Amino acid sequence: MKIMVSACLLGENCKYNGGNNRNESVLRFVAGHEVISVCPEVMGGLPTPRVPAEIVAGRVTTRDGRDVNREFRSGAQQCLELARREQPDLIILQPRSPSCGVKQRYDGSFTGTLTEGPGVTAELLLRNGFRVIEA
Ligand code: SF4
Repeated sequence: MKIMVSACLLGENCKYNGGNNRNESVLRFVAGHEVISVCPEVMGGLPTPRVPAEIVAGRVTTRDGRDVNREFRSGAQQCLELARREQPDLIILQPRSPSCGVKQRYDGSFTGTLTEGPGVTAELLLRNGFRVIEA
């Protein structure tokens, strides 16, 4: 099986704070399969570490008010193009992220409050018919 996975779940230090979300269950699940590691925020040209961002009124904005919508959408588009080329059987993404969250994401208030709805990459992949789940 070919599986696309959020890079931070695999232990890559691509998270906004320079850390990762290494997930042993995910690592066990993907062992022996073909893994495609993606970090849409890095692919979109953002540095690590970076100021955290949330979706505010439909646009991705950093905590200090910078509009990073273009970078986030570019990373999402690049993930979609990679998925179209590679045709993964399954995509496993990091929960709650403004890029990778599938069911929920932070609500744009920067208070740690969650709201229903996907991040920009998950949304694009789902809309294009890929099988996307959260870790
Ligand atoms: S964009 Fe996705 S893969 Fe990259 S650090 Fe955030 S949650 Fe992880």
